[in-house]
Amino acid sequence: MVAFYVFVFIIGLVVGSFLNVCIYRVPLGETVVTKPSHCLNCSTPLKPWDLVPLFSYVLLKGKCRYCGVKISWQYPLVELVTGVIFLATVFNWGISWEALAMLIFFSMLVVTTVIDLYHQIIPDGVLLVGGILGMPMVYLQSLDQLKWGLIGFFAAGLLFLLIAIVSKGGMGGGDIKLAAVMGLYLGLKSVAIALFLSFLLGGLIGMLLLVTGIKGRKDPVPFGPFLAVGAVLSAFWGERMIDWYLRFL
Ligand SMILES: [Zn+2]
Repeated sequence: MVAFYVFVFIIGLVVGSFLNVCIYRVPLGETVVTKPSHCLNCSTPLKPWDLVPLFSYVLLKGKCRYCGVKISWQYPLVELVTGVIFLATVFNWGISWEALAMLIFFSMLVVTTVIDLYHQIIPDGVLLVGGILGMPMVYLQSLDQLKWGLIGFFAAGLLFLLIAIVSKGGMGGGDIKLAAVMGLYLGLKSVAIALFLSFLLGGLIGMLLLVTGIKGRKDPVPFGPFLAVGAVLSAFWGERMIDWYLRFL
């Protein structure tokens, strides 16, 4: 059993390494499939052993082997987070269609979160891939799941469209589409919890950034990362949160 989970973790690290490529190349409009990886500073093509997730970074002490430029700690961090997410997902859902759906969903969220933090955009292409893959993945769990997924898709999308109109651009188009795709994967009940948590988190952290002076009142704070964190929390603990809440009442 331990060997199995180690294997799942390693798969997660490798996928995380691919997500890093997506995070870097998608905003530039570059292909994520055919072009081989290379150092961003000296352009030297990387050898297979330079691409071993986490370990190469540790072995090379965070520097390019060829030109010595510092490699961003974002790379090992994304790999590690993806590995942990894979481990937790398979631990929670076992080997199932639901686990596979969640792995695709969470991988999409990792990419949109980091891109949104750097560029304040959520690329359509990433959401499109997530949405197109999501439909059959949700259907494979059950027809009922697909029904609630589609209801969640339209409910979350329309709610955010409304917020965008009322707040006059306080919410971007990317946030609307991301909320809709979250509805598809999570279903109506869980996406409602996810959105509630993301507003709660966004409000708290936004206030903290203002009070500490890290961000001014006019500075944009991307909302996508809060949506992603809300979605992950709700996917793992949403049902239990409803139970606690009902028992509390
Ligand atoms: Zn280099």
